[in-house]
Amino acid sequence: MTSRREFITKASFGSLAAAAGLGNLSCTESSNQPPPLSIAGPFVISTWDFGVKANSIAIEILKNGGNALDAVEEGVKVIEADGSNTTVGYGGMPDRDGHVTLDACIMDSNGMCGSVCALEHIVHAISVARLVMEKTPHVILVGEGALELALANGMKKENLLTDKSKAAWEEWKKKEDYEPIINIENHDTIGMVAMDANGDLSGACTTSGLGFKMRGRVGDSPIIGAGLYVDNEIGGAAATGLGEAVLRTLGSFLVVEMMRQGMSPEEACKVAVSRIIEKHKNYKDFQVGFIAMNKAGETGGYSIHQGFSFAKTSKDEEMTIKCNSFI
Ligand code: ASP
Repeated sequence: MTSRREFITKASFGSLAAAAGLGNLSCTESSNQPPPLSIAGPFVISTWDFGVKANSIAIEILKNGGNALDAVEEGVKVIEADGSNTTVGYGGMPDRDGHVTLDACIMDSNGMCGSVCALEHIVHAISVARLVMEKTPHVILVGEGALELALANGMKKENLLTDKSKAAWEEWKKKEDYEPIINIENHDTIGMVAMDANGDLSGACTTSGLGFKMRGRVGDSPIIGAGLYVDNEIGGAAATGLGEAVLRTLGSFLVVEMMRQGMSPEEACKVAVSRIIEKHKNYKDFQVGFIAMNKAGETGGYSIHQGFSFAKTSKDEEMTIKCNSFI
């Protein structure tokens, strides 16, 4: 007998296939396997215009037959290493005590995942998250423990505080206004979802989080279901913006679940944004944006405020897409 879950999954695939012009794909009630929906992949999406740079490394890996997991890790590493970006990896803004602390997570097509929170001194937090996933029986390691894992695996301890971020912190200290309200235009967390040539999905998300945050503050970006979620049967989603709002609503999980019900990626992102708006009277004061890709390679995004964009790269083209927004 077909379970309700199976039915919903199959219905979703049917509608995705139709939307993607794959009218000749059929889902038989007797099969437990998803239909072969990988169309003209590989594809990569990532948050914000600067995602183009990260996507270009990810797509090279995918064009050469690499898998989605390697692609998302290597892709977001480009932004982690870029000192000019002040909210990811090296050069990230410090917390209010002057420590650069990184949050990151990664999730593969088998539903395995790894995460690090409040990691210091290691540029590639995403690779430590992957170590947590592949070399430990755990999903999340924080602070010292995450650092120990990185060092035990040959990673180098580095100073992540650049002169630019230090200067911004010195400036902030003059007033020490602790206002954890995220700027509406300026976010740089990179969240990425990729589909490889086999149609398999993985995702990664990495950030230094809110500038001048309280010591020990962890945002949505390393929390599976909040900053990132991937279900290889359905699709993947990632978030950027005020992490507290995304945490309260488990936004990325919600986006994937809405796609499971047959919504397009943009519609699903819109539901997650609406949920945040319903639950936060002060929603006009902060930004949150979601991006998503479904199993048919369709993509979309949606945000509270205007100005959110994502980068999409396929084997033939790259583009940045301005998202619709609630306001
Ligand atoms: N979501 C990140 C956090 O709250 C910040 C951002 O995306 O700008 O840590």
